[in-house]
Amino acid sequence: MRTLITGIGQIVSGDLDAPLLDGDSLSIVDGRIEAIGRGLDDEADVVIDAKGTTVLPGLIDSHAHPVVGDFTPRQRTIDFIESSLHGGVTTMISAGEPHLPGRPKDVVGIKALAIAIAKAYSAFRPGGVKVRAGAPILEHGLVEADFAEMAAGGVKLIGEIGLGSVRTGADAAPMVAWGRAHGMVSTFHTGGPSIPGSSAIGADAVLEAKPDVAGHINGGTTSLSEADIDRLVAGDPAIALELVQCGNGRTALYALRQAADAGALGRVILGNDAPSGTGVLPLGILRSIAHLASLGAVAPEVVIAMATGNTARVHHLDTGVLAPGRAADLVIVDAPIGSVRGTAVEALANGDLPGISMVLVDGVALIGRSRNTPPAARMAEVVKGVAVGGGSH
Ligand SMILES: [Zn+2]
Repeated sequence: MRTLITGIGQIVSGDLDAPLLDGDSLSIVDGRIEAIGRGLDDEADVVIDAKGTTVLPGLIDSHAHPVVGDFTPRQRTIDFIESSLHGGVTTMISAGEPHLPGRPKDVVGIKALAIAIAKAYSAFRPGGVKVRAGAPILEHGLVEADFAEMAAGGVKLIGEIGLGSVRTGADAAPMVAWGRAHGMVSTFHTGGPSIPGSSAIGADAVLEAKPDVAGHINGGTTSLSEADIDRLVAGDPAIALELVQCGNGRTALYALRQAADAGALGRVILGNDAPSGTGVLPLGILRSIAHLASLGAVAPEVVIAMATGNTARVHHLDTGVLAPGRAADLVIVDAPIGSVRGTAVEALANGDLPGISMVLVDGVALIGRSRNTPPAARMAEVVKGVAVGGGSH
């Protein structure tokens, strides 16, 4: 199965070091990117004309709180993951499943839940979105063998540390190390408590525990202080700095500036932190990109890398960057109808959300025109073959 996208006006790579690629076409074979260049016109089963618009990597939400299937008990909402696909999100990463009613806090229950959720989402993609979940909330009593058992059961994450009884750097450090030794990527909640029973966590605890991700440093509820943000930016370069939509917009911009000045933009990743008390935000990642790109003095294509390639690197994913061999998870976008700007990237720099005209996962067009973004000024179109998933003819 070969798919060719022609007529591309601009290609955003997702790679911070080379965020824009030269080319007007992209070919896909069996769900993986084969080539990117000019004038690719070999025989293909499906041909998509991008009509001069922009191709981005599928967005990665680094901080979601799914529970089971496409339902969140927190907001009593179904199909929120499919709605995120309509906001360009093709991969969603769980920062823990604390919204499960009756979440078990004993060791056997923690392991059973994490393994069950990891297996369920690896066997089921809601709306076609790749959900990596099964992210245990750490509680006292877990030992290394428990991490080995969870990893063997398919668990690849440690959920936000601090939502459970393990909330100090000293308590978390050995568990983070055990998880890492077994291939698990960890996130430490920072800032004020987000749910009853969790507590305020600052830079000291994060720097002591050495997680992979300093979670929502602009606050899932209450932001870290600027001094703590400074300490994280200046601290361990192996720790990613996460900014979320459902946080403090002012300190997100502050953290972005500090990271830019420190040459640390490669560490910044973007998440939604939804579903949460703030709600369900299908366009949350796009909104964060528009916010940071329009007010943060960082080019849109660089901010897009924070929601794609940077996150893929932290989580060892084969998506998030447009390059041969990577999974063909793509979003085709343009400036929205009525925008004062002519392209998606220019619209983002202006603070407008682009219009999505097609989303592909593993090379398959899952949706055409987004039901959530404003309509794109120019719409990609399938000109040969049938795009599986419908809606794009
Ligand atoms: Zn949190």
